[in-house]
Amino acid sequence: MHNRSRWGQRCSVIRCCNGRAGERASKKKNYYELLGVSVEANGQEIKEAYRKLQKKYHPDIAGQKGHEHTLLLNEAYKVLMRGDLRKDYDASIGQMRFHFGTNASAGFSRSSWKGPPRPEALFVDENACIGCRECVHHASNTFVMDEATGCARVKVQYGDSDQNIEVSVDSCPVNCIHWVDREELPVLEFLIQPQPKKGYGVFGGGWERPANVFMAAKAFNKQLQQQAAGGSNPRTAQSTADKETPAQAEARASASMKIKMERFSIIWNFFKQVFREKRVQ
Ligand code: SF4
Repeated sequence: MHNRSRWGQRCSVIRCCNGRAGERASKKKNYYELLGVSVEANGQEIKEAYRKLQKKYHPDIAGQKGHEHTLLLNEAYKVLMRGDLRKDYDASIGQMRFHFGTNASAGFSRSSWKGPPRPEALFVDENACIGCRECVHHASNTFVMDEATGCARVKVQYGDSDQNIEVSVDSCPVNCIHWVDREELPVLEFLIQPQPKKGYGVFGGGWERPANVFMAAKAFNKQLQQQAAGGSNPRTAQSTADKETPAQAEARASASMKIKMERFSIIWNFFKQVFREKRVQ
């Protein structure tokens, strides 16, 4: 890790909760996208977005299509406004948002990009951030404060001029703003996000994330590389890709993604187990 990085792109594939409306929504947008709010949106923001969209898609105005859409909105609103349902839902999309890509622009990212992706991206180690707001003060189009955690994070890569960004990085009193390689960013951004912790009865629950996100990312990447090395022969894969039709290629990519997501789920559970054991020691 050095002091520089980059990536970007949102994945709109979602896993939803119960009900037919949820199934329909899962084919298109996640509940946050459906309501047009961020994953960090609070209850008030969700409520306002929901009311606005309900008016827009009211059947008297939008007809039958509007009726279908309001059902989806109702489902999204119900889930996101209930803490327990939202927690489960976040856990489900937390996996789905993580998107392994083979090109530079593909991948899960919390931050978006202004302009074309560059070789390096900014990353805030929220474990070390003291919430002083200095970075936001100097580059408010790049950094944002997460009111839920009291920490800063990168909202838009290169959202401000290079000069303002340099000032922000330099002004951080605890040096928790890092430049990282673009390829490192998705994993770091995923791992730094608090993940719901499984509770047992009235005990436990809450949120967790690795104490050393860079170490965790390194271990995570190593796991992926090992799995990739044990996977298919690249020459065979290339030969297969040359012969297949576009539809076959799409089906293969979809199956491949599913497998990767399942692997990711296993790895994430592995990490959670490790963190738990470390805390007990
Ligand atoms: Fe956090 Fe550093 Fe920004 Fe202060 S300057 S809010 S410590 S990232």
